[in-house]
Amino acid sequence: MFNNLTERLESAFKNLKGEARINDLNIANTVKDIRRALIDADVNYKIAKEFTDRVKDKAVGSKVINAISPGQLMVKIVKDELVELMGGEEAEFNTTGNPAVVLIAGLQGSGKTTFSGKLASYLKNQKGKSPLLVAADIYRPAAIDQLMVLGEQIGVDVYSERENKDAVSIAQNAIKEAKSKNKNIVIIDTAGRLAIDEAMMAEVANVKEAVKPNEILFVVDSMTGQDAVNTAKAFNERLDFTGVVLTKLDGDTRGGAALSIKYTVQKPIKFVSSGEKLDTLDVFYPERMAQRILGMGDITTLVEKAQAQFDEEQAKKLEKKIRKNQFDFQDFLDQLQQIKKMGNIKDLMGMIPGMGKAIKDVDISDDAFKGVEAIINSMTPYERANPDSITPGRRNRIAKGAGKQLADVNAFMKQFEQMRQMMKMMNKMPMGKMPGMRK
Ligand code: GDP
Repeated sequence: MFNNLTERLESAFKNLKGEARINDLNIANTVKDIRRALIDADVNYKIAKEFTDRVKDKAVGSKVINAISPGQLMVKIVKDELVELMGGEEAEFNTTGNPAVVLIAGLQGSGKTTFSGKLASYLKNQKGKSPLLVAADIYRPAAIDQLMVLGEQIGVDVYSERENKDAVSIAQNAIKEAKSKNKNIVIIDTAGRLAIDEAMMAEVANVKEAVKPNEILFVVDSMTGQDAVNTAKAFNERLDFTGVVLTKLDGDTRGGAALSIKYTVQKPIKFVSSGEKLDTLDVFYPERMAQRILGMGDITTLVEKAQAQFDEEQAKKLEKKIRKNQFDFQDFLDQLQQIKKMGNIKDLMGMIPGMGKAIKDVDISDDAFKGVEAIINSMTPYERANPDSITPGRRNRIAKGAGKQLADVNAFMKQFEQMRQMMKMMNKMPMGKMPGMRK
């Protein structure tokens, strides 16, 4: 995400490397590079100019103290300004009312339906809510089917009326249904069009008027850069929405949308969506995003994701097995799945400070684990629990079952064995002598 912008900003800060103090010339050079980096990331010219003017004013006015270098000072100023540009504080998401109503609007293909599913899953699993999804697209029966499939995957009911061609009455009926079924939040996925279109806007506005939503979220594809900002403007003029959802941040987005939208419509970004997995919806935190843009990583999000998936009982069981030298293939597979549940591997690694750049060109897809998974999946339960039982004959069978070469299986067995040896060694060490461990 935003790799190019990160690199360009880093190189702008290099103007100050080795400079003992900040002066008009080195500030001017740095600021010019920052402005170019922003414009190339598809940030609107006016926004980029105002941004760098503020950075310049702050830099000129700040006292350089000995403890920090001019470069560090500039990074701090830019970070603070990025946070401000993206909204400052985390925005609230209003779910009061019974049921609370969330209206989802945006162009077709922006990721509305996928986001509706992610939001429902997030509210259900992380906020203890009982959501009802509503398919209010009266033009495309396929959109109803798509939402049904999503609902099934996440275990959330979907309300639809295939014969009804009035989005307003569908929404109203859905709210009645929610009340009768004790659902406390209704998420209405409206119809989108490929471009801004008066009929579509009027329809969403009518639904809004009729159901008085707590939240109207405008969903936009971040890959569309300045277009995203223009679309946001048009939707906001008509709908006066409460927040923005930026989707497809996993793609090759330059950053323009994320950096310009708040300024343009004066509405906060509330969620970001990166990927098609339904359990990876992120609340938007300007501070964390600014850190990621500056290549400082986002350890906070990483830790939170890990905590959300962490199962204490399972961890205790695993620790016991490791202590008794009983770590087996099934445990390995379980661990792999835990990691995968946290989201896209490359995105996760990008959150580690300094890693984003290092892995920029490395192809780490979730598929990297598929080979290992396939190998373990072609073992019998007995074999998984008894790694020593895997004879050469069995290895041949496993390779065939997994669609792999015998050499792949052998290599994996060897790695696994090395890992077990290491665990064994650690178990033999007295606790106090283990590096990094306290008694
Ligand atoms: P809608 O027409 O606005 O309802 O959009 P959809 O939810 O159907 O999404 C359009 C396409 O974008 C689908 O192929 C989705 O799988 C894909 N998509 C949605 N959200 C994301 C995302 O965050 N990342 C990526 N890579 N693809 C997404």
